[in-house]
Amino acid sequence: MTLKNAIRSIPDYPKPGIIFRDITTLLADAKAFRKAIDELVQPWSGDKIDKIAGIEARGFILGGAVAHQLSAGFVPIRKKGKLPHKTVSISYSLEYGDDEMEIHVDAVQPGEKVILVDDLIATGGTAEAAVKLLKKIGADVVATVFVIDLPELGGAKKIEALGVPVRSLIAFE
Ligand code: 5GP
Repeated sequence: MTLKNAIRSIPDYPKPGIIFRDITTLLADAKAFRKAIDELVQPWSGDKIDKIAGIEARGFILGGAVAHQLSAGFVPIRKKGKLPHKTVSISYSLEYGDDEMEIHVDAVQPGEKVILVDDLIATGGTAEAAVKLLKKIGADVVATVFVIDLPELGGAKKIEALGVPVRSLIAFE
């Protein structure tokens, strides 16, 4: 079993010409799910990581498992208007128009070591906004981790330019 084989590719979703990389098949496969989490955390096993931040929604599933594995807390980064307490927000550009994401202002204590988790990095716009949000509330962003990288879209380079390392397990050209 390879992780790549556990991912389903859906042509023309969400629109013609796009191949969507569907991780629900990986999540439903017990061995593949465990392997993905083990590989994502491998560089930090034994390190003291305070919090894992996950990006809504698939980053929550992976991020919860990563947090458990590293004995870290979990912090959600959500779309605007979903978090009940005081938030800090950031707007970012999508292919069509802008969006906004938020984090609770007290989700991380200044200087805490945080790893950001999402399922996939494409242009890096989503992860870049999330890293900036974490830095705004004082986090020490140790790394960003993704199951899938689409290297042609340059997202990993964008995050590395912020001085934050990127780990990904699979690339689709
Ligand atoms: P970016 O901001 O890097 O261009 O896009 C990454 C975000 O869009 C991530 O939150 C990711 O979940 C979502 N995304 C974009 N394309 C795909 C895809 O093909 N498969 C999955 N699973 N997520 C995608």
